Amino acid sequence: MDAPTIRRMRHELKFRELTVANTKRLTPHMIRMTLTGVDLADFASGSFDDHIKVFIPGEGEPAKRDYTPRRFDADAQELVIDFADHGEGPAASWARTVKPGSTVQIGGPRGSRVIEGEIAHWALIGDETALPAMGRKLEELPKGVKATMIAAVPGPEDEQVIESQADVTIHWLHRPLSEATEAKPFLDVLPQIELIPDTFVWIATEAEIAKHLREAVLAMGHPLP
Ligand SMILES: Cc1cc2nc3c(=O)[nH]c(=O)nc-3n(C[C@H](O)[C@H](O)[C@H](O)COP(=O)(O)OP(=O)(O)OC[C@H]3O[C@@H](n4cnc5c(N)ncnc54)[C@H](O)[C@@H]3O)c2cc1C
Repeated sequence: MDAPTIRRMRHELKFRELTVANTKRLTPHMIRMTLTGVDLADFASGSFDDHIKVFIPGEGEPAKRDYTPRRFDADAQELVIDFADHGEGPAASWARTVKPGSTVQIGGPRGSRVIEGEIAHWALIGDETALPAMGRKLEELPKGVKATMIAAVPGPEDEQVIESQADVTIHWLHRPLSEATEAKPFLDVLPQIELIPDTFVWIATEAEIAKHLREAVLAMGHPLP
């Protein structure tokens, strides 16, 4: 079978002014925000691991932070973003306190990495900041595909219910945010994943953890893109 390939799609870089329709606390450490606006008329997000820049309103220059388009409904012109609430950063603080009706600027996505080919099994490995991308992927997968997700979150109450037609196994790892740079919980659970042929391994964690994970996956004899 053909090895998976990554097709890069370029999008014209657009900046959009959107309105916060609502926010809700999805889990203790995750805030779900719905943005709306006519500027979304030509919004497109080609891949689950796309990102947009959110220009966080505040005093002075806005802070720019990367976020995943968690869900986009073109008919309703609604874009959903999930913000991990990890403390005092400008983005997390803004998401915690912003009121419906406020406006925010976003840029992008600039491009998409569309992963194509005969993939029988998706192995998605990430922390809470990758959970929006992983959740979107699980929701988008069709029947007949296998998927395994390893997701690190602070505690059991941060686990999410994710709908999928695929045959999904989820390993939730619980560790406090103060231990968010520890690779061990990921490395301990990795051998439980069967990396069958035509498995695509997708890793989005803190950089050092990702390095350890990539080494461990290669040591299991599995190729990485
Ligand atoms: C391609 C891409 C897509 C992303 N998509 C999402 C997404 O959909 N949802 C999402 O929530 N995040 C996402 N992130 C991560 C997000 O961009 C960062 O976590 C960002 O730094 C948050 O900004 P902030 O202003 O809240 O905190 P910052 O100002 O960047 O950091 C302030 C403090 O917050 C704490 N902190 C920040 N990040 C973490 C963390 N990961 N774990 C523990 N403590 C932390 C630290 O104490 C840090 O000193 C994505 C990142 C990339 C590169």
